Formats: sequence, C-alpha cells, structure tokens
Amino acid sequence: MIRNKPEIVSPAGNLEKLKFAVTFGADSVFFGGGMFNLRDKAGNFSPEDISEAVEFCRTHDVKTTFLLNSFLHEKDIDAAEKYIKSIEHFDFHAVMISDPGMLQLVKNSNLKSRIYLSTQMSTLNRLSVKFWKNQGIDRIVLARETTLKEIESIRDFSDDEIEVFVHGALCISYSGRCLLSRFMSGRDANLGECSQPCRWKFSLMEEKRPGHHFEFIEHATGTEILSSKDLCLLRKIPDYINAGVNAFKLEGRMKSLYYVANVTRIYKNIVENIIAGNSLEDKFPFWESELDLISHRPYTDDLFNEFDDLGFRGVPYIKKVMFMGYADAVPQGNEVKVKVFNPIHLNDRLEAIAPIKNNIINDTQLTVVKIFEDDTEDVLARPGRNCRIIFDKKVPENAIFRKRILSPEGA
Ligand code: SF4
Repeated sequence: MIRNKPEIVSPAGNLEKLKFAVTFGADSVFFGGGMFNLRDKAGNFSPEDISEAVEFCRTHDVKTTFLLNSFLHEKDIDAAEKYIKSIEHFDFHAVMISDPGMLQLVKNSNLKSRIYLSTQMSTLNRLSVKFWKNQGIDRIVLARETTLKEIESIRDFSDDEIEVFVHGALCISYSGRCLLSRFMSGRDANLGECSQPCRWKFSLMEEKRPGHHFEFIEHATGTEILSSKDLCLLRKIPDYINAGVNAFKLEGRMKSLYYVANVTRIYKNIVENIIAGNSLEDKFPFWESELDLISHRPYTDDLFNEFDDLGFRGVPYIKKVMFMGYADAVPQGNEVKVKVFNPIHLNDRLEAIAPIKNNIINDTQLTVVKIFEDDTEDVLARPGRNCRIIFDKKVPENAIFRKRILSPEGA
C-alpha cells in the first residue's frame, strides 16, 4: 500500500550543484553555511549564496534544509548562538540538527523553520522517534543502520515523518560516530572534517621488521578491512515506499555536480513510476546502468548482509565516465555554451544526459565538431573556461556532458 509520495532529498555542496539538483528533479535540497554543519570541506554557502539558493528553490517549488548538524563543544555555544542569529531571517523550510544543545538554541531563536534530526543521532526505534517528536522535532532521518523491517515496525506505531538514506557512501561505524579520522589526520568526523581514513590502505608491520608491511588480504583484489561498499537501495525503493517513508535522502555533498544530477533524476524517476503504477522491470536496466556510470564503490543494498556474506569484493572506486562539463545556456540547435570541467577535444565522442520529464529520456551521444573560446576557433576546450561548442547533432536542454573512460565492453 502506498501511503505517500516520498520527497527526493538531494545534496548541494555549492550553489551550482544545488541548481542542478533542482533542475534534475530534487523535491528538497540540503546545504550548509560557513559553520556548524557536518561537511566543512563541502564548499558551503556564503550569506549571498544562501539568499540566492532559498530564492531559487522558492521559485522552483523546492524545499530547503539548512544544516546545523555538527556537535557543540562548550567553547562553541556562544558562536553557535551568534551564527543562528545571523541566519534566522532566511526562509528555510527546515533546519537539520544533531546536538540537543543546538536544538535548544534553534528553539530559542527566531527561526521559523521546521526542525529535522540528523542521522548522526542514530535513531533506530519507535521509542526514540517518539522521544524526539516530543522534543519538537518535525522529521527524523533514521540511522543508516535501520533495517526495512525496523522501519515498517516504526511506521506501525507512529505517523511521524521519517527520512532514510537510499544512496551513497556508508561509514564502517555508526554514521560519523568515529574517531579514526581525528586520530589519524587530526580531522574530526563529528565536526564534519572526516578525511575518510577507513578507505585508506592498511597493512601490518611486525615490530622488528620496520618498513616491512604485510597487507591484510581479504580477497584477491584488495585490503579492505574497514571500508564499506556504497549504499544503493534502487531495487528496494518500492518496499521503502510501502513502508511509508516520507523522504529519500541521497548522500554526497562532496561529490560532483554530475553525480548529484544523475542520482537525483534516477531516484525521482523510479518514485514517479511507482506512484503512477507503471511497470518497473523494463526500466531497471537503464536506472542501474546510470547509477553504475557515476563513480562509486561496489554497491550494497543491505549494510547488515554485507558484513555477513563477506561481500567486500573490491572496494576500489569504480569509475567508467568522466564528467566533462555542462550546458551553461539554452542550446541553439547543435550549438551550446559549455562550462568545461575536463579537457574537451575536437572529435571527442561525448554523452549528454538531461532531466527526465514525463518519462522521456533525452540522453544522447554527440561528437564535437567545432570549439570556440572567445570567438577564436580552437582544438581544445580547457577546464575552467566557458567555450562555445558545436556538436554533430541537437543538444538537449540542461545537458551534462560525460565521456567514457572504458569501453562499455570493458566496463
Ligand atoms: S573514517 Fe570512515 S567510518 Fe569513520 S567517520 Fe569517516 S567515513 Fe565514517
């Protein structure tokens, strides 16, 4: 039974990514300002960016969640209070907190937004959901470790709004509750500075043989004793909708604009097809192949079984395409202004992906016919530049360009 149409909640590491998340179908976006959010290195938004983001989302009927989800030390309290004052005039749909102290500061402020609880608080059961509801929380992002059965059970006892992560990186510990990064690089995961040392390569060294490293070989392809696969709940989305989840969250404020746009459109498309009662089986190959064409570690749809079945088969990143750039203006037939992220050469064969509207997929393959920079013809479009590029065929609106690194056969 479908209880509601879940929102697709997309990450926005900067204003540019936010606009693409919205254009590619996000119902809601989350982002942080200069302080007190759990991604200090995610680009973050200046006050001007926040203002533009809120206005852009308002005009596109998309909700905004502003992140205040880091944990407060004693020394942070006054600064947090001041910071909240500085942003309380923004019309966010919601703010996201983790720390009960931050909750108190938000409640004491003039912020009119709803209040969401971050996955960092590891909410796993209905009693915790009730507890936080009674504290004034409007939506709870469940711990990534919550199973589908547990979600169904929570829903049997409560109508409170719940959000779950459906795609992206996982921690080997309870989300972010880990000191590895602080220990190894002085960057605290609980303050949003995780350097992800759980993904690093580890080896064993015997005391009397300095420099002689013995790798932990779990299987033929690597040494992954700590690193997790990436989450991908695509195949389970129908079950999660039936379980009454209100919002599906996509991880990845640090990831590329291409990642954000593509993951957003795929999850939006599957939700729309389920709500419309369409058959899904014929569409899974396209959805799965697109999710395979973003950089990722091997996917898992069950964090718990992953540990049971020794499924750590090759945690090294899988990367089959390179993000080349995006259409920076409305295309005029075969011609478009491109913001370039990786070098584009004459005769390059690129793929353009575009938002999916009414189930129409406008993706296409194009060949670069001419390149102009400042009206001068060139053979190369350089990263960081805006170039006018003429292709061999029509460019879809809002196109993002990618290039295969491996042939499909070798991929
Ligand atoms: S080191 Fe790994 S497990 Fe620990 S917080 Fe960072 S990403 Fe998560």
